Amino acid sequence: MITSKLPQVTPSIFSVMSSLAHEYQALNLSQGFPSFPVDAQLKELHIKAITDDKNQYAPMSGLPMLREAISIMTQKLHKTFYNPANEICITAGATQAIFTAIQTVVHRGDEVIVFTPAYDCYIPAIELAGGKAIEIPMNLPDFTIDWNIVEVRINNKTRMIMINTPHNPSGSMLSHEDMLQLQDLIVTHDLFLLSDEVYEHIVFDQQEHLSASRYPGLKERSFITGSFGKTFHITGWKIGYCLAPKAMMEEFYKIHQYLVFCINHPAQVAIAQYIQEEQRYLSLGSFYQKKRDLFLHSIQDSKFSFKPTQGSYFQLLNYSALSNEADVDYARTLTIEHKIASIPISVFMNGTDPKMLRFCFAKEDHEIIKAAQILNSL
Ligand code: PMP
Ligand code: GLN
Repeated sequence: MITSKLPQVTPSIFSVMSSLAHEYQALNLSQGFPSFPVDAQLKELHIKAITDDKNQYAPMSGLPMLREAISIMTQKLHKTFYNPANEICITAGATQAIFTAIQTVVHRGDEVIVFTPAYDCYIPAIELAGGKAIEIPMNLPDFTIDWNIVEVRINNKTRMIMINTPHNPSGSMLSHEDMLQLQDLIVTHDLFLLSDEVYEHIVFDQQEHLSASRYPGLKERSFITGSFGKTFHITGWKIGYCLAPKAMMEEFYKIHQYLVFCINHPAQVAIAQYIQEEQRYLSLGSFYQKKRDLFLHSIQDSKFSFKPTQGSYFQLLNYSALSNEADVDYARTLTIEHKIASIPISVFMNGTDPKMLRFCFAKEDHEIIKAAQILNSL
């Protein structure tokens, strides 16, 4: 018999809920992906790249034109420079960037601090590297971090802290105060930071996304991950990137080259051209804010309670006025009996169940309205 390296792991909740939605023909607001079509121009660029025979291996760290575009974007948004030659890597989605960054720094016995609810790929990746995840629950109901507790949990085995802002599943964002406190801990205890920023452009209500790259003490110790899947509505292309200072990226490349070597070449060609028009990512916040507002406006008279999400394309809804069921069961009930699928968040927080479900509003407006009708009828 094979000895499992991940004995606790079961199929991801995203696969489970998406299949259930499919089986019961429910409106699928569970797994996070857009339901609307990708921009025709991006599709044409991809097709053209294939027709132009950009079909062989790409450079190991990514297409130079794409790395340059990311460097320019980061300079514009965060006033900080990453050298496209040796501080940027194109990856197979943020998932591979996260896995590779963890493999790069975590040695057997090292501890990595993660905040729960945590995106599902973090802890297995730490364990596969021989590390131990130290889970610190975020403070509810606002999903904030108590940095005093973090300090208490740091010891001589602590190697890295992982953050995710804007946060999946809660949509909370770290403030300038948070980033300063984090910087203090990272510098004082000489730790690494993995900052998962896949929702960097999806922020609402005139707020600013505070990238770890803006804080010099963080930048020099951080891997930062991004996802074109989120930014350009192409989750199925599985393409993202990682930023890190040269010495850290050198080690990252060593693992990247044997994990995947390089990333889908025609997709890189297409994105490298598409990203040149900055409005394509700068307009994402207002694009999704309209969808968030439509969703929340449409369910304002329902029995769900909520705080408007600050960033990401997820909205948590508290259903305690409707049911005492555990969130996993209630999510099933809603899918099977009411034909609307969501994600129960207890699976990201060791079973703690604040009676909240996560709904993805990256959907066509008519689907958002349909979803609201169902939720209002409960
Ligand atoms: N981190 C978070 C917080 C996510 O929500 C996701 C899902 N997009 C990922 C990482 C993985 O991104 P990708 O699909 O680019 O691998
Ligand atoms: N990031 C997506 C979400 O949070 C899911 C990605 C996946 O299915 N692994 O819903």
